[in-house]
Amino acid sequence: MGIHSPLYLPSSPWQMSVLVAIASLTLNQKALTRVVPQDQGFGSGYAGIFHFQFWQHSEWLDVVIDDRLPTFKDRLVFLHSADHNEFWSALLEKAYAKLNGSYEALKGGSAIEAMEDFTGGVAENFQIREAPEDFFEILEKALKRGSLLGCSIDTLNASESEARTSLGLIKGHAYTVTGLDQVNFHGQRIKLIRVRNPWGQVEWNGPWSDSSPEWRSVDLEEQKRLGHTALDDGEFWMAFKDFKIHFDKVEICNLTPDALEDSALHRWEVTIHQGSWVRGSTAGGCRNFLDTFWTNPQIKLSLTERDEGQEGCTFLAALMQKDRRRLKRFGANMLTIGYAIYQCPDKDGHLSRDFFRYHASLARSKTFINLREVSERFQLPPGDYI
Ligand code: CA
Repeated sequence: MGIHSPLYLPSSPWQMSVLVAIASLTLNQKALTRVVPQDQGFGSGYAGIFHFQFWQHSEWLDVVIDDRLPTFKDRLVFLHSADHNEFWSALLEKAYAKLNGSYEALKGGSAIEAMEDFTGGVAENFQIREAPEDFFEILEKALKRGSLLGCSIDTLNASESEARTSLGLIKGHAYTVTGLDQVNFHGQRIKLIRVRNPWGQVEWNGPWSDSSPEWRSVDLEEQKRLGHTALDDGEFWMAFKDFKIHFDKVEICNLTPDALEDSALHRWEVTIHQGSWVRGSTAGGCRNFLDTFWTNPQIKLSLTERDEGQEGCTFLAALMQKDRRRLKRFGANMLTIGYAIYQCPDKDGHLSRDFFRYHASLARSKTFINLREVSERFQLPPGDYI
């Protein structure tokens, strides 16, 4: 299957999340060939079927579809490539819709969910206004690890969605982050970020944009290193400080060892636990319900490796509810989920109500919320936690 031309989506913005996830997937060849196995095409032995692979609850699932795609007046209804002879994106979308139960079930999904399903990665959300001081370094490390990064500008209401600002940014639109770097500019080091509009058009026109005068003061070699061009391809640089002003949200899909085979990249160690929250027995609610909180599944976490030059260990804790989207057509909604992290006492076994009565949590998810997944980054000293 040839993968060359830009992707387009005619008129259904609710499918946007899948488009963005596919667009950022195309930036990572290794991850892409996992989802879209390359040994398929319309050549000899063609049987009218295609298969794709998605990460679902700690394993790769193979999804087989036939080659019929929904059309209206001879045009593809959903996702398609700019090149009318290129069908992989539409077929991938169909397989993903099948995995989720229907095209309709993709509605309301977020780009980061699809990125996780395409890579086996673990999501992390940042509100830029509340981002940590070393945000640039966090993003830089994530990109170096091969993670997929998305960013967007919040909208206040539906009418603002896709509204274009005077600086060439589009509200509610999902962008991908494709680079971070620093340049010498009048004796100063300036932090820059490269952002890409997956629609391939409409670019930022402020400082450090394609034909902005700042570039004239940058060494040619450096321009080359940064791949600075003035192509109207949807990709542009901007100063990181402007990025923090104009964008609201960054989502990182942290790739785990399973998605990355390159040992040269700095990877995460990953452990996965399955739990079951059953009404009346193990669905104990949040800490406000002291009498039942202790009945929730308790999962042990051991931190052993300190961050370089620091006392604490950084880790991501992600809690995901399975299969709710597939149950949507039977009227099921996402459940409200969240977690709290406690220091583990020396003894083994399930912690009792009294433990939670007398011990405060050391960290917790920011909110209990009805999303498919809540995930957050923490730093705690080495030790055992529940
Ligand atoms: Ca450009």
